[in-house]
Amino acid sequence: MAFTLPNLPFSKDALEPKISKQTLEFHYGKHHQKYVDKLNGLIEGTDYENMSLEDIVVKSEGGIFNNAAQAWNHQFYWESLSPDGGGTPSGKIADAINQQWGSFDNFKDEFSKKAATLFGSGWAWLVKTKEGKLEIIQGQNAKNPMTEGHTPLLTCDVWEHAYYLDVQNKRPDYIENFFDLINWDKIEERYNQ
Ligand code: MN
Repeated sequence: MAFTLPNLPFSKDALEPKISKQTLEFHYGKHHQKYVDKLNGLIEGTDYENMSLEDIVVKSEGGIFNNAAQAWNHQFYWESLSPDGGGTPSGKIADAINQQWGSFDNFKDEFSKKAATLFGSGWAWLVKTKEGKLEIIQGQNAKNPMTEGHTPLLTCDVWEHAYYLDVQNKRPDYIENFFDLINWDKIEERYNQ
């Protein structure tokens, strides 16, 4: 069974002016689509063909892993965002962030630093470890924290294709815009699962 590109949880212009429609047309319509298409081509006739995307991410390596993880990561990234997002979290996730970093602002600084200083292409993640602790992780290329047994809560795509059309080389500006779009209700839901 072939994978299909999942629908965006919002329209392509819904994140403007923070993330433009043009960026979404390329990032979702071309890049995300290509990872899904390439994955389908690579798994055809293999044991991976009938697995869930999550299972493929955890069990594969090489080209299959790269495309499966990129497909999974992008869906997770879109679902982390909302036109009504931003602000600060509430509930148990807010308590956990305050416990770990002292304040939301400290967390934001730390996450932004990890996202900004990741060398090359990759993803910054907020995860819940097996012990239930929050951690910020830098992941190069297609890295996915599920391969290390972590539960992903939030991710920021810092591949240049995520921001270059909007802010060119100014990755920190994109990260600031990203924080204005985080769907904390969704992140809280993931944390409580
Ligand atoms: Mn991307």
